[in-house]
Amino acid sequence: MNFHIITIFPKMFGSYLAGSILARAIKEKKIGVKFYNPRDFTKDKHHKVDDRAYGGGPGMVMYAEPILKAVERVKLKVKSKKLKVIILSPSGKKFTNTYARDLAKKHKNIILISGRYEGIDARVKKILKAEEVSIGDYVLTGGELPAMVIIDSVARQIKGVLGKFESLEENRVSSSIMYTRPETLIYKGNKNKVPKVLLSGHQAKINEWKKKNK
Ligand code: SAH
Repeated sequence: MNFHIITIFPKMFGSYLAGSILARAIKEKKIGVKFYNPRDFTKDKHHKVDDRAYGGGPGMVMYAEPILKAVERVKLKVKSKKLKVIILSPSGKKFTNTYARDLAKKHKNIILISGRYEGIDARVKKILKAEEVSIGDYVLTGGELPAMVIIDSVARQIKGVLGKFESLEENRVSSSIMYTRPETLIYKGNKNKVPKVLLSGHQAKINEWKKKNK
């Protein structure tokens, strides 16, 4: 799976991708993450990527052309039919785990377009027949975190990315309540114990407990 990120702030992704499971996935070539900066696709000598909105209003709108050119660059490289174009937008379709699993199953290349400021010229969506996706009902300052969220949740659906495939909660009996050592945690004089059933070794009973404590 290759993620192609269109962003004017590629450096924002560095530290997150450099750690833990995603770093390993990149190293083992289970996923690839590439960046395309709209600033590199402008003719303007100041590499301007935004302008005032037609019709007025505060905030700047990102130009369509540098983004469209960045997408063309991706398409030149991948030529794959299994290419999905997503524009991050707070008013888009709500991102879910089911959506992530679907992306992982159906596509080999995903373009994620991160907006900034007021957003992106609407013609980008129309021309690319892109889907707008929101990661939740709140407004962020840019689409970089949303792109990261999508990379993370799609990547873990790809075989071999998590240490054990069974680590996907979706594929096993799991609980949101979990414990590790010690059996008894003494904190400020109080004893905090792990539920007995989890120490019982009785798998059927443990699963029953997990189902009850989703
Ligand atoms: N001023 C605009 C919001 C612009 S947010 C308004 O109020 O409608 C700037 C950029 O951040 C957007 O182009 C989008 O790419 C990204 N963004 C912000 N919140 C988001 C969310 N919840 N999901 C996905 N992208 C988001």
